[in-house]
Amino acid sequence: MPVITLPDGSQRSFAGPVTVAELAADIGPGLAKAAVAARVGDRLVDTSHRLEADAEVAIITSRDEDGLEIIRHSTAHLLAQAVKQLFPRAQVTIGPVIEDGFYYDFAFDRAFTPEDLEAIEKRMAELTEADLPVHREVMNRDVAVSFFRGIGEEYKARIIEEIPADQEISLYGQGDFKDLCRGPHVPRTGLLKAFKLTKVAGAYWRGDARNEQLQRIYGTAWADSKALKAYLRRLEEAEKRDHRRIGRDLELFSIQEDAGGGLVFWHPHGARVRRVMEDYWREQHTRAGYELLFTPHIALEDLWHTSGHTDFYRESMYRPMEEDGQPYQLKPMNCPFHVLVYKDKLRSYRELPMRWAELGTVYRHEMSGALHGLMRVRGFTQDDAHVFCQEEQIEEEVLGVLDLTLEMLGDFGFTQFEVNLSTRPEKAVGSDEIWEKATTALQGALERKGLEFILDAGGGAFYGPKIDLKIEDAIGRKWQCSTIQLDFNLPERFEMEYVAASGERRRPIMIHRALLGSLERFFGILIEHYEGRFPAWLAPVQAVALNITDKQAEYVQSVAKTLNNQGFRVDADLRNEKIGFKIREHTMQKVPFLLVAGDREKEAGSLAVRSRSGEDLGSMSIDDLGTFLARQVAMRGRSVMED
Ligand SMILES: [Zn+2]
Ligand SMILES: [Zn+2]
Repeated sequence: MPVITLPDGSQRSFAGPVTVAELAADIGPGLAKAAVAARVGDRLVDTSHRLEADAEVAIITSRDEDGLEIIRHSTAHLLAQAVKQLFPRAQVTIGPVIEDGFYYDFAFDRAFTPEDLEAIEKRMAELTEADLPVHREVMNRDVAVSFFRGIGEEYKARIIEEIPADQEISLYGQGDFKDLCRGPHVPRTGLLKAFKLTKVAGAYWRGDARNEQLQRIYGTAWADSKALKAYLRRLEEAEKRDHRRIGRDLELFSIQEDAGGGLVFWHPHGARVRRVMEDYWREQHTRAGYELLFTPHIALEDLWHTSGHTDFYRESMYRPMEEDGQPYQLKPMNCPFHVLVYKDKLRSYRELPMRWAELGTVYRHEMSGALHGLMRVRGFTQDDAHVFCQEEQIEEEVLGVLDLTLEMLGDFGFTQFEVNLSTRPEKAVGSDEIWEKATTALQGALERKGLEFILDAGGGAFYGPKIDLKIEDAIGRKWQCSTIQLDFNLPERFEMEYVAASGERRRPIMIHRALLGSLERFFGILIEHYEGRFPAWLAPVQAVALNITDKQAEYVQSVAKTLNNQGFRVDADLRNEKIGFKIREHTMQKVPFLLVAGDREKEAGSLAVRSRSGEDLGSMSIDDLGTFLARQVAMRGRSVMED
């Protein structure tokens, strides 16, 4: 007589074994209809799963995060079924769930067209309309291999061949379609109500460019059409903000085919923004008690053996280059260089904490398929720093880093955060005692700062616990930027020391931290966050002065010059074009302020000021204009004039 305990603590007992579906029906007809799967203990199961003993059971619907995942997964099967019906020559391969949706890779002798996608989507809708029941069956591995080979699914057969022979294979079938799958699945195709195929792209069998090319169809799936619509709106909004397009339109940066993928060229206007970012960054760090370092771009490979990078980081490193019979390594990280500076002399506890910061350019080999604008690159400048301190100083130092982080991110316009604290994983270096102390210190700093955090137990690196901070942008997307990472490993490997007050030699604690992550990626995030409409502080051109006729040309030029001399980035547009045309063009370039001069303004020594959103800010004298711009710049990203 199984007794089933539900999430609310209530219990139901049954005379004999029941399926999840029967349990759901016993609770209520609404739930019976909506049930997607169930969680039994911590295992996810189909609604056809039989409950034979006492258990804690939660019925999962599409409102549940796991339920949504199952819906996306099941929609990938639905896609494969529709493709097989419409294009019997296509072979199925794999179809995993990804963020917000799924994809499925097919081997097909031509590329799928947008018309194909439409037809596939229509067939998928018909299959959900038919509300086909989904069945699970179990097969012996070799039987499964010959089954798939028998129906011409060579790729599936190859996937299953790699599963150990003694393992049972589960298949899920719906109508005329069967696929290898661990499950669980929705019980009926009718539960898949809100999906859309989004795009098709090339892919390779097993992700290897030397293998056969496949066709990857991407899709998204949601609990209901309202959620789907909201997602498609977000997608559209994100596309409008795509930093690659804005970067081109505003001539901020480029990636040059001739130079190679993932290498960023900052054009004059992008370089202006970068200079503001860098100047601000250096100022803030100096104020917060950091010293600045500059270190080389390459070093002997041996250094990277000592640091351990050639063991655990090899795949991301460029291959060494030989010179004078010695291999040199392009740096993927700055850390060992800061360690060398530390070790240059014997350090005393009196010198600690030491905070050293560097805008350090590093190179990491990313797969070419993973490269994406400024967001995923091969060469980038980290806003790196290392703090060397004593154990008792960890909490105070981390608190200081958090202060600096929140202030700087706030200045860039970010005020919503998600914080994660990752603790000791199973395999780790360093004593239990130091892990305990360090984790407590990190937690203490977060609490003193009043930051709520998500605990990722066991999610730390093998060499120390860490705090990660994600920022939320203008359309609610989260970006991981800041990291505060404790390290018990490098000081050990490099035998770093300091002389304690007692006279004995001790190992310092090393804290790695980056606030923005990298200048390139952070710039990409800024472009998308502001949709290219930078606050005056960051804008490459803060204002453009425009003459209406030639008669004000000289006046407009002198205004621009005066403001330039005050340190503002102001251009003059003296072209013999209609004023409306000029205003439109600079508005498209998202210049924050337009300064217009006709005869009247020239006469009065003033300018008619308007914002890029078309707001009339009235007439200002040149002095007032300087004060106005200075105030705008001083607000940084904290208060973008509503435009
Ligand atoms: Zn599946
Ligand atoms: Zn580091």
